[in-house]
Amino acid sequence: MRLCFLGTGSAIPSAGDGFTSFLAEEGGSLVLVDCGDDAYRSLLEAGRDPLALDALVLTHEHADHLGGLPAFVAALDCARRAKPLALAAAPALAGKAQALLGAFGLDPGNLSFEPRFSRGWEAAGLRVELIEGRHSVPTSMVLFSSGRGGRLLYSSDSRYEPGFLASGSGHCATLIHEATYPHDRLPASTGHSSALEAGLAAREIGAERLFLCHFQESAFPAGFDPAAEAASSFGGEAIRPELLRWYEVA
Ligand SMILES: [Zn+2]
Ligand SMILES: [Zn+2]
Repeated sequence: MRLCFLGTGSAIPSAGDGFTSFLAEEGGSLVLVDCGDDAYRSLLEAGRDPLALDALVLTHEHADHLGGLPAFVAALDCARRAKPLALAAAPALAGKAQALLGAFGLDPGNLSFEPRFSRGWEAAGLRVELIEGRHSVPTSMVLFSSGRGGRLLYSSDSRYEPGFLASGSGHCATLIHEATYPHDRLPASTGHSSALEAGLAAREIGAERLFLCHFQESAFPAGFDPAAEAASSFGGEAIRPELLRWYEVA
């Protein structure tokens, strides 16, 4: 499986980085996770054809994850996409996404392609499952299973609870986890996690590598390195991903 991060920012973006979103590719299938930003342009910048995208996974209703959906669907329609697009989302979120598209006149009958909402997605060599997560609003974690035995979990926006990830997904070699705050700046009441908690979660699910995302740079003191903080509690490889770089994972 290959991964490419299109953005690693929180709801407050920073210069040169947008809202958290990434691509996963396996066996000729291409999946986009979340759509808060200009996904069409980002796909091109990642060297992929937006018209060939197989599935879009939506985790939750926050604007930094869902707000770019109408513009993305409109761009695909303007480019005369013909292939159906799978949209994997929990049923309540699917309803909100459909209403959002409707507000822009992007109803299925008006589009050049068929949007197919479902609770998960599967193709030869890759399966995507949604698992209920823990956040300030209902959210889905995303579990990728490759035909070659690789398992990757994206915990989405997530409040850390000891043992929670492991109970939902079991062992995963790769974890993508938010690191919105340094641990000493984590608000008392929050739907988010610190880099240190991301490392704890990675250790609990037996991950070999941890990709961090959803950084709130304005909460980072000068010189703060979220990968170093996460590595201190993880004990494995913690990565602050480079945007638009393709990473090979198990
Ligand atoms: Zn977010
Ligand atoms: Zn959120």
